[in-house]
Order: sequence, then structure tokens, then C-alpha cells
Amino acid sequence: MLKQLWTAILDLIYPPKCPVCHKVIGVYGQWCAKCLTSVLLTREINMFIHKLVNLDTCYAVCDYEAGLKGLLHDMKFRQKAEYARHLRWLLYKGLEMRRYKFDCDLVIPVPLHQARLEERGYNQTALLFKEWAALKGFLWGEDILIREKATQPQWQLKLAERRQNIKGAFKVTRPEKIAGKRILLVDDIFTSGTTMDECAKVLKKAGAAEVVGLVLASGAQ
Ligand SMILES: [Zn+2]
Repeated sequence: MLKQLWTAILDLIYPPKCPVCHKVIGVYGQWCAKCLTSVLLTREINMFIHKLVNLDTCYAVCDYEAGLKGLLHDMKFRQKAEYARHLRWLLYKGLEMRRYKFDCDLVIPVPLHQARLEERGYNQTALLFKEWAALKGFLWGEDILIREKATQPQWQLKLAERRQNIKGAFKVTRPEKIAGKRILLVDDIFTSGTTMDECAKVLKKAGAAEVVGLVLASGAQ
């Protein structure tokens, strides 16, 4: 009772707002209908165009350019983990609307290097997908794939440099956990796909039967 009253008071002082246009909306973490329509672009990315050979396929929920760029950047670099709530809602909404079902045994996030994880305090991909994976009843394998090499951020590099930069960056710590398994590899953004493809290569080498990708945002076809 007290909690409900407190929530009602808070709603009056700080009403829930759309993270893009700041229009007042019904519930914290949601988006207004107009911004939601412009940002959701749930689709399968064409692996052939991107010349990716290890990742079996990849799904993206949103368009990266349509209002998401700033939010993802804030969540990553400005310690604004509370934005994750708005981003998680997009994930639920997009997958629900397209009725995507994933047949997987285990969900693995693209890992950060230990130094970056300590600096940031959280893996933004875990913040986005861990709750969803639990809700779907999927196992969450965060420590199975690790990033051994501290790589340069991929967005600073050209395509050929990206492949070189990410090569040999990942390692499977417990191959017995993924042998013969269907893996859903998750990340926040898909740009050229080189990072996810390198992860898929390492996972398959360690015995994974299938590696399908799922990302929150992408500007790719
Ligand atoms: Zn809006």
C-alpha cells in the first residue's frame, strides 16, 4: 500500500517519458507509439552480403540509426545503465511482434575483455539479454566464452582491419558445456558482423552444432 502510494507520488513528480521525444507515457521503460514504430525493424540479416561464414544467421530487432544510437552510446559509455530498461522493452516488443522463436540450448553474450568490464562495471549485452533469456527458460552461459585479447574498438577500424583486430580474441573456457549444442549468440550492435563471426568460429571449433545471432540494433541489411 505504502509502496503503491510512493510510486504514484513519484509518477506525479517524474512521469514516465519516451526516451527519444520525451512525451509522457503510461509505464516506465516503454516508448511512445510513434518512436516505437520508427525504431523497430525486426528482421533477419543477410549473411551472404556480409561474407560471414561461421555465423549461421543473425536477427536484429531495431534500426540503429532511428533514435537508438544515442541511447546505446549512453548505456555503454556514460554509465547510464537505467537506459537498459527502455532498450529491453524494444527487445521484448520486436520479438513478440514478429513471433520469433529461437530453438537454442544456451544463450551466450559477446564478452568484453576483463579490463573493460571492470572499467564499465557491467557488460551492456548482459544487461540487455540476461533477463529475457531467463524469461524464455534458456540457459545463460556468460563465462563460457571469454575475450582474451584487449582489442581496439571495432567502429574505429576499416573492414579488413576489423577482421585482423578481432582474430584470436576469444576463447572457450569449458568446451564440454557447448559440445553439440545450439547456441544463440547475443550482442548489442551488429555492424559488419566480424566480431560475432569470430565468436561463432571459436564456438564451432569447440564443438557447437549451430550458432545463431541476435542483436538489439543494426543498420545492416
Ligand atoms: Zn517518443
